[in-house]
Amino acid sequence: MDSFGRHINYLRISVTDRCNLRCQYCMPEDGVQNLGHGNILSLEDLARLARIGAQVGIRKVRLTGGEPLVRKNITGLIRCIADIPEIDDIALTTNGILFPAMAQDLKAAGLKRVNISMDTMKEERFAYITRRGGLNQVREAVFKALELDMHPVKINVVVIRGFNDDEIGDFARLAYDYPLHVRFIEYMPVGDLLFWNPDRMMSSQEILDRLKSDYELNPEKAVEGNGPARYYHIAGGAGSLGFISPMSHQFCSECNRIRLTADGKLRGCLYAKQEVDLKAALDRGAYDEELQELFLTAIKTKPAHHEMNSGWGQQNFRKMYQIGG
Ligand code: SAM
Ligand code: SF4
Repeated sequence: MDSFGRHINYLRISVTDRCNLRCQYCMPEDGVQNLGHGNILSLEDLARLARIGAQVGIRKVRLTGGEPLVRKNITGLIRCIADIPEIDDIALTTNGILFPAMAQDLKAAGLKRVNISMDTMKEERFAYITRRGGLNQVREAVFKALELDMHPVKINVVVIRGFNDDEIGDFARLAYDYPLHVRFIEYMPVGDLLFWNPDRMMSSQEILDRLKSDYELNPEKAVEGNGPARYYHIAGGAGSLGFISPMSHQFCSECNRIRLTADGKLRGCLYAKQEVDLKAALDRGAYDEELQELFLTAIKTKPAHHEMNSGWGQQNFRKMYQIGG
């Protein structure tokens, strides 16, 4: 329990700050200074910290980044985490580019579920927003995950007014046709903010209102995976729609997560500056008991809620790919 009575059982691990895309809202095109070898947690350390987390109550682990699939031997890490008896759920958030070629091995290593980010289904737009391209691989990733039964397969769509808001209906159609859980995410002002503009943020309510004229949406109980999304079943459809509303609706009172950054800092909140330095402790040879105490410190100092709505333009704030989205 943290100091506000929330039961913290979910650890998001950023395994790298590197990425094979450069999404406009997440990473700058140039001047990305990646962590060097000595500053990044080794796979052994990551596995050890997952085990320590399990000892203080963590039951679910999600690997993210940066792009987690660019980290060497990620399947080895998944295997180690899958061997921790207390951990009953291992998931991955990926941009999907490398997923088709790795999917089988990831599943065999113990990966249960996958969230794939896909903000647009139009090739040109995809190349623009990611500054790289590769929509075909992402599409392939979605169908591969379905084929391998990695349910629930979730699609993350950051809705940006003037960029992809005209595709909201197309994404709903995708969830109608296939057993996919499409989650519309409110655009958040994190990172360099070069692309950020408050007018580009579309609230979940606005998205929902637009969809209601074409689809009958019925509120659903949470889909397995414990995310903060509100889900709706589409009448007659195969999948569901989710709305993640960090901007318009704080879900902090239900937040059950802590985050480990690739450079070994444990954070209670995506948007708070407090971090507990686990890497320093590992480097000086800390015993498990000390690491457990540090986990508990991060849990106890988890803030009651984020301050994203009052902090437009915090320039010194660590970026999404550095913290792990
Ligand atoms: N590279 C992987 C991916 O893109 O799925 C994992 C890391 S990425 C930082 C995790 C999620 O954060 C993605 O779904 C991405 O769209 C989302 N994200 C990044 N920047 C965001 C922002 N400014 N507002 C809302 N969501 C954001
Ligand atoms: Fe990379 Fe994911 Fe950030 Fe896009 S959202 S730049 S894929 S880390």
